[in-house]
Amino acid sequence: PTAFDVQRIRADFPLLARSVHGKPLVYFDNANTSQKPQSVIEAVDQHYRLHNANVSRAVHLLGEEATAAYEGARDSLARFINAGSRNEIVLTSGTTQAINLVAYSHALPRLQPGDAIVTTVMEHHANIVPWQIVAARSGATVKPAPIDARGELIVEEFLKLLTPEVKLACVGHVSNVLGTVNPVRELARECRRRGIPLLVDGSQAVPHRPVDVQALGCDFYAFTGHKMLAPTGTGVLWARKELLQAMPPFFGGGEMIREVRFDGTSFAEPPHRFEAGTPNIAGFAGVSAAIDYYASVGFETIHAWEQQLLAYATERLRDIPGLRIFGEAKDKEPVISFLIDGAQATDLATLLDLQGVAVRSGHHCAHPLMQFFGVPATLRASLAFYNTREEIDAFITALLKVRKLLL
Ligand code: PMP
Repeated sequence: PTAFDVQRIRADFPLLARSVHGKPLVYFDNANTSQKPQSVIEAVDQHYRLHNANVSRAVHLLGEEATAAYEGARDSLARFINAGSRNEIVLTSGTTQAINLVAYSHALPRLQPGDAIVTTVMEHHANIVPWQIVAARSGATVKPAPIDARGELIVEEFLKLLTPEVKLACVGHVSNVLGTVNPVRELARECRRRGIPLLVDGSQAVPHRPVDVQALGCDFYAFTGHKMLAPTGTGVLWARKELLQAMPPFFGGGEMIREVRFDGTSFAEPPHRFEAGTPNIAGFAGVSAAIDYYASVGFETIHAWEQQLLAYATERLRDIPGLRIFGEAKDKEPVISFLIDGAQATDLATLLDLQGVAVRSGHHCAHPLMQFFGVPATLRASLAFYNTREEIDAFITALLKVRKLLL
């Protein structure tokens, strides 16, 4: 029961019309990267056709236009996540760079031997490995908070880990493997009470739900553009102004200085202090277009449709004998990990591809989560608002067919 016209939406995404291996494409690998609407593709194209120049370095008109596109994306992003100020938005190449920036500029200078960083068992490697690297350098440790069999964070256990030696806590807003939505507001409140900054990896949240960083109450929020309809090589680190102001630069170079002298260089204010070198200007022109696209559809509509798709796909999958779903959280985004008894995930994914169905198989950059479930890999069907019930039917038909071939 929604006025949502999915076919009209699909018409905006050129790639969805193609076929693969002679079959209509069913793209269920959206958690890996989303497809792009025409408006985003055009924004990138128009940038190179009409406005291409470098940012902040030229007084000529093209330079002003390129700068306006790049800085305009910062404004759009600030509104998109309700940042307190556009200066709290650091533009990066993606989540990975955003988290590493926090690791090297915020965490590393503060960590002492015996300190700790808390993360969770369900994190993407991007929210584990940077903490391990800076912990190893400083003599700190990384403590993972456990999850339960349904794939939900055990909040009491997370809170128990928040002892005085913890200097930072890190959690994914939404799991890229399980779809679990973590109670970020509650975690942020508890971290704040203990004086521990909370970093949230929002990569899998921003494509599905409106995010308000001030309402969440966290301290750092990182996400990537390519999972939210925008080009690859774009991302964001949002952080509270006080935190950014206290952070030294990580990358040095052009665009991030006030004055360079051999007897002492001074740095620009945030966010430019963290944006050395020529950025992905065309990509960020695409980010603004992606945000406009979301606004034109509306997250309420997107959420309602995606939850219908999630419920329908889950119900159909449950009918398949020997199929096990990983992740049964109460609050869940449309990501379904599963295995079929007796079949290898990669074999299933390879055969599904021949039927036109793109799903991911593997460890999804979440080794500790695979270890928790005691499996080397899963298949993952991850949906977006441009997917349809008919695609779910085609996926199930293909899955039953390839299951028969393998068993
Ligand atoms: N965190 C999560 C939860 C992710 O799903 C991903 C992408 N798979 C990343 C971080 C890394 O994003 P990127 O590769 O764009 O830096």
